[in-house]
Amino acid sequence: MKFFQYLFVAVVCTTFGQLNFTQAADEPEFQLASFSVDVTIPLNHRCMGLLPTKSKTIADSLEAIGFVLLSSEKPLVYVAIDWCEIRNGAYDQWRDGLAAAAGTTRERVLVSSLHQHDAPVTDADAEKLLEEVGLKGELYDETFHQQCIQNVSAALQESLKTASPVTHIGMGKAKVEKVASNRRIIMSSGAVSFGRGSASGGKNYLAEAPEGEIDPYLWTLSFWNNETPLLALHSYATHPMSYYGKGEVTSDFVGLARKAMQKKHPNIKQIYASGCSGDVTAGKFNDGSKQSRIDLTNRILAGMEKSWKATKKQPLTQAKFSNTKLDLKYYDHAGLQPKRLRTILDDKSARTEDRIYAAMGLASYARVKSGQLIDFPCVDFGPAQLVLFPGESFVGYQLMAQQMRPDSFVLSIGYGECWPGYVPTNSAFADNFQDKWLWVGPGSENQMREALQEVLLPKVVEE
Ligand SMILES: [Zn+2]
Repeated sequence: MKFFQYLFVAVVCTTFGQLNFTQAADEPEFQLASFSVDVTIPLNHRCMGLLPTKSKTIADSLEAIGFVLLSSEKPLVYVAIDWCEIRNGAYDQWRDGLAAAAGTTRERVLVSSLHQHDAPVTDADAEKLLEEVGLKGELYDETFHQQCIQNVSAALQESLKTASPVTHIGMGKAKVEKVASNRRIIMSSGAVSFGRGSASGGKNYLAEAPEGEIDPYLWTLSFWNNETPLLALHSYATHPMSYYGKGEVTSDFVGLARKAMQKKHPNIKQIYASGCSGDVTAGKFNDGSKQSRIDLTNRILAGMEKSWKATKKQPLTQAKFSNTKLDLKYYDHAGLQPKRLRTILDDKSARTEDRIYAAMGLASYARVKSGQLIDFPCVDFGPAQLVLFPGESFVGYQLMAQQMRPDSFVLSIGYGECWPGYVPTNSAFADNFQDKWLWVGPGSENQMREALQEVLLPKVVEE
């Protein structure tokens, strides 16, 4: 921008009162508010959308923890929720509820799930379809869901009263030992398999196979008021399950690590986000035992502490929001054909779990058909960027983001809008990755790469 244009913009902004006279144009003021709310599901509630065993006991609470960043622009909101997935209409309900509470727009509300499996999947469009065939509440409890959104919105609003000035951001990262491993392994026959599940550590061959493609670092972005740390946002790319499917509701090892970290640092709000980890689990190092859950918790906690100690501060001078629309296509293979799904949904003799699965597919198909694209937001803090990816994006996307900005601290968060399920890379599709939890098809990488470039690469401004 040329000097005279700059002068013109400065005069216009001042005229309309967007800039404070006492505040220099190049020194924006930031404030941060944070909140946390219990969002534990009730007993007898469905877990992971399809698990046959509903919630029987509560091992520990599920939480929604977030922050609002206030500046001269519209507020930015981020919230991390100890749930499995939030999809379609439910994703909009969360964003609209929180946007109204914060006084901002839907796009500026970044919502992510941590993806624990003994935790709910919510999808308002699928729930509506289920209700129509007499399966109301089988996917999730809509009243409970609305209450959670209301509670978090209220907590957000309350937090604004005690917002603190933010002068600096902090950036730290540290290697986590013995947690992440890729599902992809080479079998003794030489064939590629994605068969290393989240609790494979009891099987020698799967435990001994190398870690494969992972991001070994836990990333911590923090906000400071001069020397006082206010909030630490940690992200690490792994599925968060040690064991599941027994109806024991838990925030699992990542949530337990966050809770322990919060106890050790009571005055610094701790948030944990799951990075892009569609193809990454603790499988190599986890045998599914109770002891494994404890060990994995301690390893994540050690990573958080190391990352926190490695943190370096820089003045916060910007929080530029950008968003693009991601056009992922519905994966229209034989098993997901809308006609077939409709038949299953209507079939009273079919398993409830199969009818839920059919409703989820139909909901996503209708969403894509309606033309509603996925928001792909990024906040650029100058030396650091925060990017929110959809669904179970594979770790390759997180590594791709880092490669696009090798000079920068790119913190990736996965499990935003979750209707796509897995978002594999081209190479995973080439290796014949297939899974039931997959609603987008080969070629999705092209759209993902373009979207990442759009939000992450600095714009070349023509003079
Ligand atoms: Zn998953």
